[in-house]
Amino acid sequence: MSASNSNLPSTNSGARSMKLPQVIAIDGPSASGKGTLSRRLAKELGYFYVDSGAMYRTLAWQCLRKNVPVPAEPKLLSRDTEKPILAELRRWKTELREVEGALWLHVEGYFPKAEIRTNEVEKTVPIIAQIGKVRDWMVAKQRECSTLGALVMEGRDIGTEVFPLAPVKFFLDASPAARAARLEGRGNVADTKRDEYDEKRKQGALIPAIDAIRVDNTGQSPDETFAVLMTHVRARLKLN
Ligand code: C5P
Repeated sequence: MSASNSNLPSTNSGARSMKLPQVIAIDGPSASGKGTLSRRLAKELGYFYVDSGAMYRTLAWQCLRKNVPVPAEPKLLSRDTEKPILAELRRWKTELREVEGALWLHVEGYFPKAEIRTNEVEKTVPIIAQIGKVRDWMVAKQRECSTLGALVMEGRDIGTEVFPLAPVKFFLDASPAARAARLEGRGNVADTKRDEYDEKRKQGALIPAIDAIRVDNTGQSPDETFAVLMTHVRARLKLN
């Protein structure tokens, strides 16, 4: 289960030529409950869990670690400022590895599990995630995951860009106050800019797919939301 890369793959082949993937797509803003619920659904169904945000975070971490300059705001991105970030991506030797039922992008044999959860990475990641060629690379890698088995994949554009033919798509959300409280509980700073950048970008913007099931889980316990999601999954996948 490995995939080494020296070039930036193109996603031009497009989604229309893909077979119906065995994927449950879960999108939503930060602290909308995607992580907890995706992991739990994957476990329940025996599917691989994939955290697509971890892939973007890994590139952000790598840029910080290697002193690759990343502009402070999306409006400062240009062909010139994107160049060193794309050069870093071209140098990557990556592979997808399974760890306890989840697929993680390892770079040079390592997955920076703790390192990608810092506030510094969180500031950098929505900037690099604006770059079209970075998104193309990530989308191709995320699609590659589906060649390894059925997936529950969480992110921002999974139902719209990565797997537009996924048979089940959710868009999770909660009120800004509920999401800010969840982030604070995890020791993270509530960063409204990150969601704003994700919502406003040209490629792979955070928006619900037209056929996504929208679930607002403000005031719900994870158990309650999980039950709602499972009801939809059972109906869509015709499970007993
Ligand atoms: O989900 P998570 O908070 O770990 O995602 C970190 C960041 O990665 C997001 O704020 C977004 O900028 C980027 N991302 C993305 N598309 C995805 C998943 C994450 O642009 N599918």
